[in-house]
Amino acid sequence: MYEKIDALRNISGCTVLVDEPMSAHTSFRIGGPADRFVCVENQEALKKVLETIADEQLPLFVLGKGSNLLVADEGFRGVVLSLEGDFKQITLDNDGVTIRCGAGASLSSLCKFARDHALSGLEFAWGIPGSAGGAAYMNAGAYGGEMKDVLTSVQAVSLDGREKTLYADELDLSYRHSVFTGGTDIITFVCLRLVPSKVEQIQSRMNELILRRKEKQPLEFASAGSTFKRPEGYFAAALIEQCGLKGYTIGGAQVSFKHSGFIINTGNATCKEVLALIAHVQYVVEEQAHVRLQTEVEFLGL
Ligand SMILES: Cc1cc2nc3c(=O)[nH]c(=O)nc-3n(C[C@H](O)[C@H](O)[C@H](O)COP(=O)(O)OP(=O)(O)OC[C@H]3O[C@@H](n4cnc5c(N)ncnc54)[C@H](O)[C@@H]3O)c2cc1C
Repeated sequence: MYEKIDALRNISGCTVLVDEPMSAHTSFRIGGPADRFVCVENQEALKKVLETIADEQLPLFVLGKGSNLLVADEGFRGVVLSLEGDFKQITLDNDGVTIRCGAGASLSSLCKFARDHALSGLEFAWGIPGSAGGAAYMNAGAYGGEMKDVLTSVQAVSLDGREKTLYADELDLSYRHSVFTGGTDIITFVCLRLVPSKVEQIQSRMNELILRRKEKQPLEFASAGSTFKRPEGYFAAALIEQCGLKGYTIGGAQVSFKHSGFIINTGNATCKEVLALIAHVQYVVEEQAHVRLQTEVEFLGL
């Protein structure tokens, strides 16, 4: 089944790992083995991988930093794709305000790059542990900012290897949603337009926001951030707390004492335990507060 994928380890810019534990690639530290974990470093290698996946009709999952992801204890029967090498490069355009960033680059390196070039607009993303691609896919946001405010275009490759560029008005960005959400396109690069500012001013806003995160969020535990989306007119954490669920625990999964919107892995939580806790929270909140909480966290292998 995987012979052709395995043969790609002989081409340049491509690494193929067998039975790679997904717990090593998710911020939840949960997840069994992926049949194949393929790292690609350039467009050519990516195209070859996609061709093979199409030929062999293999299930594909594009991984960012795994910071919004819950993976089954049994893992994933298919190919997990990780963007490395060229897809981590960050460059500044000649206009001095547009940054082109590989989808595999971390948001933290993107934020630092912007700061070092005295460009403001991305401070909100400092502390979000995702990739640039994952942030565009989810329209990640925090503290009044979101990717929508800064994205000017996104480059992507479809499963049949076609490259395309989508501009801001085609990205359909809204709360934790983009035109890519639920689709199969692979985001390869993003372009953002920022505003010239002072390095000290940018750094000071970044410091302020990271402090707020440390105060409010259980960063000492593995998690995937906010487990639930913000229901219209409410805050998920407040509803969960009102329903007496703060600290509620199933196995190693716990509703964080520090921030009820986070389900944390206290040590050895399994995917099953997290799922049971999610279902319990949804049930109780619906019964008591008549609000159906939708998950923000995405699932793989379930
Ligand atoms: C402590 C903590 C704090 C957080 N705070 C915030 C916050 O303030 N705001 C916020 O919005 N989120 C927050 N998150 C959640 C998460 O970091 C974001 O949703 C982030 O954008 C996910 O990016 P990722 O690269 O980790 O994506 P992953 O978790 O790897 O993947 C998420 C989805 O994006 C898709 N995807 C990833 N890369 C690509 C690509 N190149 N092409 C196509 N699809 C892709 C995946 O297939 C998957 O469907 C937090 C998480 C943690 C653990």
